[in-house]
Amino acid sequence: MKTGYFTHSDYDLHITPAGHPEQVDRLNVINERLSKLDFDDLDKIVPPMGTYDQVTLCHPKEYVDYIKNSCPLDGSVSLDGDTHVNSASFNAAMRAVGSICEAVNLVVNRKLQNAFCASRPPGHHAEKAKPMGFCLFGTIAIAAKYAMKTHGLSRVAIIDFDVHHGNGTQNLVWDDPNILFVSSQQIPLWPGTGERHETGAFNNIINYPLNPDVDGQDLIEAYEKEILPKIAEFEPEMLFISAGFDAHVNDPLANLNFTTNDFKILTKLLCKFADTYCKGRVVSTLEGGYDLPSLRECVDAHVKVLMEHAK
Ligand SMILES: [Zn+2]
Repeated sequence: MKTGYFTHSDYDLHITPAGHPEQVDRLNVINERLSKLDFDDLDKIVPPMGTYDQVTLCHPKEYVDYIKNSCPLDGSVSLDGDTHVNSASFNAAMRAVGSICEAVNLVVNRKLQNAFCASRPPGHHAEKAKPMGFCLFGTIAIAAKYAMKTHGLSRVAIIDFDVHHGNGTQNLVWDDPNILFVSSQQIPLWPGTGERHETGAFNNIINYPLNPDVDGQDLIEAYEKEILPKIAEFEPEMLFISAGFDAHVNDPLANLNFTTNDFKILTKLLCKFADTYCKGRVVSTLEGGYDLPSLRECVDAHVKVLMEHAK
């Protein structure tokens, strides 16, 4: 089988104010690099628009309407200090939801082995009724609930290695005993949550704080010795990855020292785990990563590992 690569021109129309780190060029550099990969092994898929049925798996309809109605005809509106919408933002965020749900469909139905969604805006900071940190909808939490509701999976795990805590995903899966959420993040750092004692209503959340300046090897060792055995105990049937690459040493928004190779090794560990426990089912979606050359290299390495495990 193949790896699915999901992206869409709608994301280019979600334009943030000048100088904003979450910018259109993030996907341009990724798509430019991935266009050079071997498409015999990579299935490029144009994703469908997300639906209200999908997005309301995690958010009240009133909140979805609020985001839709906040998008101005012209210019840009700030929903908070970091999160901005223009006329195309609702469609872009809904497309990101449709993309990851279609990735779930194709992976569960064995049309694809695994998938990567190159989407914008990111999703892991959006809470039930609150946009936050560049994010409008909790894309990966929606996908996890969608996999269980639509395809009857019993338990799924979400791995979030973005340098910022996935507070939105945590908020959306807090009281769902069938979703294990594992998040590693620099602390102290915005948004300020993600301490070890935040464990969810059913011990279904594992937070792994990282001190500023640690290397990727620290997290890799933690996954090998401590985290993967805990995920194995949960027996997930599918693995979701919130793939943020802002723990990279060159990233301007944080202070960790991960290399591109660290992200490659981490992806390998997760894919190997999925091969053993989840029939190789992995759906990954882009979260952060703001140094464009590093982002390009990291996504390239991440997708190549997915492709190796799809063969
Ligand atoms: Zn981040």
